[in-house]
Amino acid sequence: MSRVWNFSAGPAALPEEVLRQAQEELLDWHGAGCSVMEMSHRGKEFMSILAQAEADLRELMGIPEQYKVLFLQGGATQQFAQIPMNLLAGRSADYIVTGSWSKKAFKEAQRIGNVRCAATTEGSSFTGLPSADEIRLDPFAAYLHVCTNETIHGVEIPAERIADAGVPLVADMSSHILSRPVPVEKFGLIYAGAQKNIGPSGLTLVIIHRDLLGMAPLNIPTVMDYAVMAENGSMLNTPPTYGIYVAGLVFQWLKRQGGLEGIAAVNAEKARILYECIDNSAGFYANPVDPECRSRMNVPFSLVNPGLDAAFLAESKAAGLVSLKGHKSVGGMRASIYNAVSLEGVQVLVDFMNDFARRNG
Ligand SMILES: *Cc1c(COP(=O)(O)O)cnc(C)c1O
Repeated sequence: MSRVWNFSAGPAALPEEVLRQAQEELLDWHGAGCSVMEMSHRGKEFMSILAQAEADLRELMGIPEQYKVLFLQGGATQQFAQIPMNLLAGRSADYIVTGSWSKKAFKEAQRIGNVRCAATTEGSSFTGLPSADEIRLDPFAAYLHVCTNETIHGVEIPAERIADAGVPLVADMSSHILSRPVPVEKFGLIYAGAQKNIGPSGLTLVIIHRDLLGMAPLNIPTVMDYAVMAENGSMLNTPPTYGIYVAGLVFQWLKRQGGLEGIAAVNAEKARILYECIDNSAGFYANPVDPECRSRMNVPFSLVNPGLDAAFLAESKAAGLVSLKGHKSVGGMRASIYNAVSLEGVQVLVDFMNDFARRNG
């Protein structure tokens, strides 16, 4: 068996230790005589898995007591609709558009109710963040929505740029949740699809301040109502049990890496060596993003000559480096270097890129 160096944007690499543990426990979880996939979600075994996963997540992120953690389905895309369905309450909400994902969230919310674009960087091809004076906030907005890491454009909002908006801040953290410490108390709602940095697809995390529960109109479906989900401990209906179990194993793995401080240090070093390789390539590789807000998780880059793209992809694949093709909307390459991608893996990529540039420059 050989495993590739996996730079997929999502579903993405998982820690090998976690996969091995899941494999060991696959047929018989802790003496239950069956797999986690085969047990009742209401039985004591699964209830203990869910409780442990939530406790570990709360510890890792430092989630205060007044927040509920929901383990939902439907992906981040469902949240694009579920957030305005629950929180608009007949008012308007503000969106800051800094890339494809926040733009999608804004468009979806327009289907539900009244929303405003408070700032957009589309005019500069989503290569930076709006400055404070470019953001026009509505002080009466029901909430302000941001995407703290744009997976396609590689733009990340640094923690120190998260300011108090005066209204509840709602954040799509799908592609960098758990990659570094986050001041949870500054947010009203944090959400993330699991398949980038948490676990298998099919699970969606929502961390919501209890003041935002119970605002939904009575006519929304119960399964879409955060308050109902919170009252039922994410068990109104069957939750994505196996995804929750694997996410729980990932949370324990993260604790063994020194928690979010520990993994953030590794992530910073991974990003440093990759951007350094790009910036020191004498123009052979380029990343267009303002260095102040370059993503530490998703690194898009282009080759000076797009005619070399096919050779780059074929040769990198032959070297065991996979899923480097950029998103079709931006072209070029993208290396997603989530938590489960090791520093060693990024070093192998950097060595390949330096060698490829030497041979083709
Ligand atoms: C992948 C991604 C999404 C979409 O997630 P789904 O789970 O496929 O709906 C939304 N936002 C961001 C930032 C993403 O990276």
